Amino acid sequence: CGIVGYIGTNDAKEILLRGLEKLEYRGYDSAGIAVVNDAGVHVFKEKGRIAALRQIVAEDVDGPVGIGHTRWATHGEPSRVNAHPHQSETARFTLVHNGVIENYEQLRADYLADVTLKSDTDTEIMVQLVELFVKKGSQVEEAFRQTLSLLKGSYATALLDKQNRDTIYVGKNKSPLLIGVGEEANVVASDAMAMLQVTNQFVEIMDEEVVIVTRDAFTIKTLDGKKVERLPYTAELDA
Ligand code: GLU
Repeated sequence: CGIVGYIGTNDAKEILLRGLEKLEYRGYDSAGIAVVNDAGVHVFKEKGRIAALRQIVAEDVDGPVGIGHTRWATHGEPSRVNAHPHQSETARFTLVHNGVIENYEQLRADYLADVTLKSDTDTEIMVQLVELFVKKGSQVEEAFRQTLSLLKGSYATALLDKQNRDTIYVGKNKSPLLIGVGEEANVVASDAMAMLQVTNQFVEIMDEEVVIVTRDAFTIKTLDGKKVERLPYTAELDA
């Protein structure tokens, strides 16, 4: 399983699909991408291979921002509905996640009794919690950090906000995730191999950190909002 995200000036969907193909070796049962453009957020997901996903991705949907996922099901059978990305109730937020949320049933009972979940995954509660905290008055970045602070378990996750197409929010705990720093483009992925098509400059992310990623900048913070400075390194890898 793996995640990938891209924000830049090129067509995100092809970069995401190629990135996911580089992550295939990690194993998966379904795959999906979400691309944002002026018309909104477009989600494509399918059970089975990336080749099957490619068949359903609309050629004419092209946007410079997106996230992608290969799923290895832990909660909920492999199916299109359970495949990622998952969306919040109003579809404002779209999220992918690798890992396992051990306390998702408790969080659901404590916070989301009024929300009708669309999937059987542990993941969906993450995106619903972000929307809940935003509805209660938090800024999006804060709502994302609040959500991750409540989780017990592992995650590499990326979040899109339909109302802010200039940012991808990512978070990591006990699942691999790196940032790739490019020219007028930044990428995130579980493995550097998925990002070599864009850059060979990478920044590590530590457990319980979030990164606010834009086209030409990234800001790393702890879950309680303290900024962390970390420089990129150059990787000598062959694509
Ligand atoms: N636990 C999540 C699910 O079952 C994510 C699985 C994964 O890491 O791909 O949907």
